[in-house]
Amino acid sequence: MNEMPARIDPAAASPGEGLHPETVVLHTGFRYDPTTYVTTVPIYQSNAYFFPSIDYASDVFDLRTSGRTYSRLMNPTCDVFEERIAAFEGGAGALLTSSGQAAITLAILNLAKSGDNIISSSQLYGGTWNLLARTFARLGVETRFVDPTDPEAFRAATDERTRCYFGEALPNPMLVPFPIREVGAIAREIGVPLVIDNTMTPYISRPFDLGADIIVHSVTKYICGHGTAVGGVVIDKGTFDWHRHAERFPLMTQPDEAHGNILWLEAVKGLDGAYGRSPYLLKMRNTLQRDFGACASAFSAFLFLQGLETLPLRMPRHCENARQVAEMLSGHAKVLDVTYPTMGDARMTALARENMGGYGGPMVQFEIAGGIEAGKRFIQSLQLIYHVSNIGDARTLATHPASTTHASVPREARLAAGVKDGTIRLSVGLEHIGDILGDLERALGAA
Ligand code: PLP
Repeated sequence: MNEMPARIDPAAASPGEGLHPETVVLHTGFRYDPTTYVTTVPIYQSNAYFFPSIDYASDVFDLRTSGRTYSRLMNPTCDVFEERIAAFEGGAGALLTSSGQAAITLAILNLAKSGDNIISSSQLYGGTWNLLARTFARLGVETRFVDPTDPEAFRAATDERTRCYFGEALPNPMLVPFPIREVGAIAREIGVPLVIDNTMTPYISRPFDLGADIIVHSVTKYICGHGTAVGGVVIDKGTFDWHRHAERFPLMTQPDEAHGNILWLEAVKGLDGAYGRSPYLLKMRNTLQRDFGACASAFSAFLFLQGLETLPLRMPRHCENARQVAEMLSGHAKVLDVTYPTMGDARMTALARENMGGYGGPMVQFEIAGGIEAGKRFIQSLQLIYHVSNIGDARTLATHPASTTHASVPREARLAAGVKDGTIRLSVGLEHIGDILGDLERALGAA
């Protein structure tokens, strides 16, 4: 009889210490089901869980033991994804959410309440900018936006009510890599956790190794990888010293009336498995996820597990295709300007090397000559590439922001955000590079 364990300890399987990321995405958290012997993670389509005894039930509810109560908080299929993605990024644990926006919301509100502030890079996905600048402001959480080309600006904007720093590893759509190592060093000196959105660069960027404390992803994009579901995840590295910075983080260190005056830093010690490795996530799951209900379905988790299995193969191919697209465009007569991380100025290319090894990322932005009308003609002339306002699909996607996502933004504000009349964004897919280049050349010719 094969004595293979049904589960692999994610601590032993974390990259660098044991298994490599390519192996983690296939094996960590689940090997086979001990009753059916299936090797694919089952979709546990159940919203609640049986309590074998009344004592067990109260122990689980009071967080004296690890166990499942209700699928708004946890689900066995979601659990496997959480273990796998945490080990993949080199973290202590993870919480799967209903979207990337939900992940960012929970990651920040777990530390900040009304009257507090966070410091964020000004180069952000537009949806995140809205969330921080408008919705969080209405909740009383101020976001101080700073220019990431000057990492010291993070220090200068910090005060005693600052609860975290935030940036995107490769900002969508500016494509100038965020100085994770430099801002991480400042964060460590001051004692503020650095939250990095790694949506655009899973596998090719390792934010925890560079100095991040918490990673968020829109799983919707490259991890899912096939345009089939919306989801997000928060991953805790598990090394931030909440005790040492207790005054700055009362939500983490004081008795929490949102959960029977629990002390999160103590409660975590009595729990085994993933729940015992991160007080930050234990609190998030049992207060914010419990109350907001931003949970993913078991079916979505299954799709994310499928995507994760091939992510280490797909990301290098996305990047190689994107690099070839950027090279072709930079020599084209109808193209005024191309933005691609490994083809920028010295700082941009140095940051690309530091954040992404040799890779340049999976997206290309360029400006077509002829303004708004040329941009529209280009999009309308594409035959293979989809006109879709998304990124991270296996298929190549193109958008012309001036006529779509930014059409209602005043021109001056749009230009300040880096969106010119002829700006085109490409999320470069996995088709044969000859076919991608052929479609782009045809559409440029017709623009
Ligand atoms: N973060 C980044 C960098 C994004 O590009 C997006 C969406 O495009 C999000 C977060 C939000 O993710 P979701 O659409 O899954 O809510």
